Amino acid sequence: MLTRFAPSPTGRLHLGHAYAALVARELADRNHGACLLRFEDIDHTRVRPEFYALIEEDLQWLGLTWEGAALRQSDRLENYTRALDRLRDREMIYPCFCNRRTIEDEIARMTNAPHGPEGPLYPGTCRGLSDDERAARIAQGQPHAWRLDSTRAAQSCGELTFHDLRCGTRPVMPGELGDVVLARRDIATSYHLAVVVDDAEQGITLVTRGEDLLPSTHVHRLLQILLEYPEPQYLHHELIRDETGKRLATRDHALTLATLRESGMSAEAVLDRLPSVPCHGKLTGGT
Ligand code: GLU
Repeated sequence: MLTRFAPSPTGRLHLGHAYAALVARELADRNHGACLLRFEDIDHTRVRPEFYALIEEDLQWLGLTWEGAALRQSDRLENYTRALDRLRDREMIYPCFCNRRTIEDEIARMTNAPHGPEGPLYPGTCRGLSDDERAARIAQGQPHAWRLDSTRAAQSCGELTFHDLRCGTRPVMPGELGDVVLARRDIATSYHLAVVVDDAEQGITLVTRGEDLLPSTHVHRLLQILLEYPEPQYLHHELIRDETGKRLATRDHALTLATLRESGMSAEAVLDRLPSVPCHGKLTGGT
């Protein structure tokens, strides 16, 4: 059994990260498995180099260990490009020349623009461009992202499910996030593509992460089928909130582990403040 904790080095860890790391570590321990550390650092506009070491220090202070050297997604761009190429060969992605403004304008113009649980979805403007037009625009050097053709992917994959240890078996609904970006115009990958490739190539059998990422799992299952990757189990854990009920964000400094430590709180007291780690369902796969 293999799981992972995957923070972004864009700030100090807060209580929400501590809980995510605790869930991963504890489930690995309970199942005689291992837990890896992976830095999600593809967004060079937000990553700051000092946070790699500070995150490792915060985890060590909490006593949450990981196996092996931490992996950095920024070292693995070629792996993501290879996966993107496979999806392109299968005609499951298309270039998108839109920018945020043109997308917003298009949504405003449409009478029934597609919506997911998190708001409007990409309206599909570039999905229907002809091959000639795509080739011409790329040859002209027009900046473009690559999007998943979620309708086509769903047709090719048929009915799918994913299994979550808290929520049970759920049907995959490709419309949850629609035609997501798999390679940004400025970075040759995206969260969705990188996480699916890494989980598969690292042999992760249990993906633990916050329940805010539940909608993403629908896309990830499609990508796993298209790329012929094995299916991991999932545990989407509850989110840690502040006293007003708002979930913690990297920009909130009050509840970072560094601030709590400086205020004299012990690592044990921090861990005690976190909800207990859920233990539902049966783990399968791996050793
Ligand atoms: N970097 C993500 C987060 O901090 C985790 C993504 C994942 O585990 O798939 O919420």
